[in-house]
Amino acid sequence: MSQPVIFHKKPAPATLAATATWPTEEVLALFELPFNELLFRAQEIHRTSFPEKDIELATLISLKTGGCTEDCGYCSQSSHHDTDVKASKMLSLDTVLDAAREARANGATRFCMGASGRSPNDRDMEKYEEMVRAVKGLGLETCATLGMLQDDQAKRLKEAGLDYYNHNLDTSPTHYGTIISTHNYQDRLDTLGRVRKAGLKVCCGGIIGMGESRRQRAELISQLANLNPYPESVPINHLVAIEGTPLYGVEALDPLEFVRTIAVARIVMPQARVRMSAGRRELGDTVQALCFLAGANSIFYGDKLLTTENSEAEDDRVLLDKLGLKTKQVTEVKARMPGLKDHDHEHDHHHAHSIL
Ligand code: SF4
Repeated sequence: MSQPVIFHKKPAPATLAATATWPTEEVLALFELPFNELLFRAQEIHRTSFPEKDIELATLISLKTGGCTEDCGYCSQSSHHDTDVKASKMLSLDTVLDAAREARANGATRFCMGASGRSPNDRDMEKYEEMVRAVKGLGLETCATLGMLQDDQAKRLKEAGLDYYNHNLDTSPTHYGTIISTHNYQDRLDTLGRVRKAGLKVCCGGIIGMGESRRQRAELISQLANLNPYPESVPINHLVAIEGTPLYGVEALDPLEFVRTIAVARIVMPQARVRMSAGRRELGDTVQALCFLAGANSIFYGDKLLTTENSEAEDDRVLLDKLGLKTKQVTEVKARMPGLKDHDHEHDHHHAHSIL
């Protein structure tokens, strides 16, 4: 009688990596694997960690845009750079709620609220708390990205019902100074520490294609993986070089290097939602398909809902359909939110299916 064929050895239990540290050299060694070997390993770990194989849809809204005092070299919202972005006033609560309802209707389960600026002031904090409370009340997971936080601000957001706080490490510690001069790496790490201390979940990743070396990409991923615990969400952005910013004209990154970065992130942070973020659509369907194979399982989705009549959300639905990928269900959120009204249930039900 023939023996069962064993195609591959069982991956190590995913929980191990939560406490293990990942030195840069080991992360770099992953980057340097033959492409297929790297993708195979990433896919193997991905299947063990996420047997449901679903894709999370997160929608982003900009609460307050432009006019920022910081000088992040990639950002169109910095007042140090001469871009088309003009400083805008804070959106009203009603506008934010309309966008959140629309995002939910389109199948998003997480709603991310971002505001430009170094850190929130007291007046803004009250508005943010109100928005978080209201969006949470719709049964969506809430995330905010508002810059550097103090202990009490992190605590207040947590008390208002915030689930996640986004604060990216952006790049490697050795590349950071060439991109940003108005704050430093330690400032970023300090905010992440305060966010954890307040009991919030952490969304933290970076941007690649900012002229860094492969070693520096490995340093960034190593930093993320060595946060203890590592972030629950890891957005990997591909630089969108905007005219007027210092990074405009930087040499474009090979798209396969983006896929490798996703795969390495998946391997070293097996339980994290690895999100393809900015620059995703510019990569085209084929590269995005490779990223899903490499273990990406979250996307920013329909994030210009209010201005482009959902055409981007529609494109995303077509792509997910083409790849036979199912999305994380709103029902999971519903199950944790027994207070949802009937009307909201219908809404969720209808739209959760429209994507499948
Ligand atoms: S702090 Fe945020 S909004 Fe300000 S320049 Fe940096 S990335 Fe842009």
